[in-house]
Amino acid sequence: MLDNLTQRLAKVVKTMRGEARLTESNTAEMLREVRLALLEADVALPAVREFIAKVKEKAMGEEVIGSLTPGQALVGVVQRELAAIMGADLGPEATQINLATQPPAVILMAGLQGAGKTTTVGKLAKYLKEQKKKKVLTVSADVYRPAAIQQLQTVASQVGADFFPSSASDKPVDIALAALDHARRHYHDVLIVDTAGRLGIDEAMMQEIAGLHAALKPIETLFVVDAMLGQDAINTAKAFNDALPLTGVVLTKLDGDARGGAALSVRHVTGKPVKFAGVAEKLDGLEPFDPNRMANRILGMGDILALVEEAKKGVDVAAAKDLAEKIKGGGKFDLNDFKAQLSQMKKMGGLSGLMDKLPAQFQQAAGNADMDQAERQVRRMEGIINSMTPQERARPELIKASRKRRIAAGAGVQVQEVNRMLSQFEQMQSMMKKLKGGGMMKMMRSMKG
Ligand code: GDP
Repeated sequence: MLDNLTQRLAKVVKTMRGEARLTESNTAEMLREVRLALLEADVALPAVREFIAKVKEKAMGEEVIGSLTPGQALVGVVQRELAAIMGADLGPEATQINLATQPPAVILMAGLQGAGKTTTVGKLAKYLKEQKKKKVLTVSADVYRPAAIQQLQTVASQVGADFFPSSASDKPVDIALAALDHARRHYHDVLIVDTAGRLGIDEAMMQEIAGLHAALKPIETLFVVDAMLGQDAINTAKAFNDALPLTGVVLTKLDGDARGGAALSVRHVTGKPVKFAGVAEKLDGLEPFDPNRMANRILGMGDILALVEEAKKGVDVAAAKDLAEKIKGGGKFDLNDFKAQLSQMKKMGGLSGLMDKLPAQFQQAAGNADMDQAERQVRRMEGIINSMTPQERARPELIKASRKRRIAAGAGVQVQEVNRMLSQFEQMQSMMKKLKGGGMMKMMRSMKG
């Protein structure tokens, strides 16, 4: 699913994560790649434009520029914006099925013929029965194709949902109201109403479903659409949304070679979120749609979000601020401060552990080997500082030859290594003086790189 898009974006992600510095040119390059990937995946142009504009705005913002790992932070921005255009910005509940009403909660299904409506009724009944422990009644208001009623009956029995029989000689609204009455009397929690679809958008069909909507007052009106239709899927969704107050969309056949555009444009074009994705013909092939997870999938990176969160945690902003205040106020940068900085870096280095969770190609891109080495080095430097007395840490100028030998022995290293550590410390101290507490982030970044 969405393979091409994933491949293209994963390539961009790989390059960006390795970038220690963000420049206008590599950011622009990245955005160009993302834009091409989205257009190729058939994402509606206005959705692409808005997406790119938002990423650009955030990329230029503090969030990324002030970050220790700007490339990675930028990837985080892309992930969040992808999730946002798919409905994450509406809040976690917006993409979930809403049954919060006096039972029975009515779900009205709309869509063109062949979109996968009847199959989805079965899948949804199964999901609500098994995952939400609901008693579900299904009914077909498709009086034009007797085979459609039969098909729903078969599907309902396969998933163990109740089925309200209807006759092709009845009016759709009468069938639906009879089913609603039956559901009330038999204490069903949910009534799912399948409707007739046509091959194209058709005035009579729209009127009929609007009539059903008025009679049933459903809490959910779900538009079922075949993701493989790409841009056409979006146009149909828009037409239905104009005629009917939809509450959400079900994208079917995402297991096929859909290019993904529909998933990324539905929300933008209709204002309604995707609530479910059909991912197989089988009746268990329905997934609640989670914009964040979908964004991760599209970017081809399972754990990247966790990684970005972890990187944020690693940076102790409060401590960095305290140090900045101290230096600004004329305080001296001593070995205790140096040690605190090292432990910050160790937390960054600790990312290598997290990287292990990522697919191989990402690990390679991240230069795992270097991170291991950096981590080891930071640990040794900490060991050296740990074998100093508090007095030595506060006043490093006290550390002369004999103290150096004692410290080296305590840390189990050569005296040269103590010297090297002290000279790195002095470098940092003089940098601190120059910075006078400003540009702390910049400095830490330059040390890392
Ligand atoms: P309706 O006319 O809208 O009721 O559509 P149907 O429910 O009869 O589905 C039309 C075809 O699409 C059937 O062959 C279904 O098995 C198939 N189908 C529906 N949903 C999915 C899906 O998520 N994945 C795949 N691969 N096929 C699906």
